[in-house]
Amino acid sequence: MPPPSLLQGRVLAVSDHILIVEDEEDIVELLVYNLTRAGFEARCAGSGLQALEQVQKDPPALLLVDLMLPGIDGIELCRILKSRPATKGLPIIVLTARTEEESKIRGFDLGIDDYVTKPFSVRELIARVKAVLKRVRSPDTGEGEVRFGRLYVNFATHDVLKDGSPLQLTPTEFRLLKLLVTHPNRVFSREQLLEKVWGQDIFIEPRTVDVHVSRLRAQLENDPANPAHIVTVRGTGYKFQQKLKDS
Ligand code: CA
Repeated sequence: MPPPSLLQGRVLAVSDHILIVEDEEDIVELLVYNLTRAGFEARCAGSGLQALEQVQKDPPALLLVDLMLPGIDGIELCRILKSRPATKGLPIIVLTARTEEESKIRGFDLGIDDYVTKPFSVRELIARVKAVLKRVRSPDTGEGEVRFGRLYVNFATHDVLKDGSPLQLTPTEFRLLKLLVTHPNRVFSREQLLEKVWGQDIFIEPRTVDVHVSRLRAQLENDPANPAHIVTVRGTGYKFQQKLKDS
């Protein structure tokens, strides 16, 4: 039996940056400065198209989307993101300039997490960013999904996607991945992993863990020889690396 913590759904955003989608340089500068000061890594996209490209390459922990954008506008961008399985779980906070837009957002039911009206107070915006991240990262929401880098894991459906394409994991590989991602940054010894993933009654050699870790890395990691997520802790075991600055 897996430990009780694994039986609860958990939602974690394990990416480590916030993507600002805005074409007005003054606002971008203000946001980058303040988000960085608050401990976040901020990246920028000047258009909806750029945002889509960047999200595909490296999904952020959260998007701040201005509605007035060149090309694809903010509403269309949110719609596209929410319509794709790989990106629909990404938290979005919308920046709006006018009250007409506020009613538009509500009317469209875009599934966004929050919105802030310009001119906004930076302090309030940061507070909302933190609140949304806390909400999506908090356990017990019953949704049971995790996103890290280009990967997405759904505990209810057992879907594991990389760049939106499904990966084929064995049940054991899935349980191992689940244990690691639901305990970010916690180091597990091979013996602990054996007990929690394989069960304590079964006799399996500790190096079996290494074999399964290698298989997981081969599918999940961009560079399996230099893993970014499932890392070896020398002399101890393995951990799932989470690089959140604000956790
Ligand atoms: Ca704008």
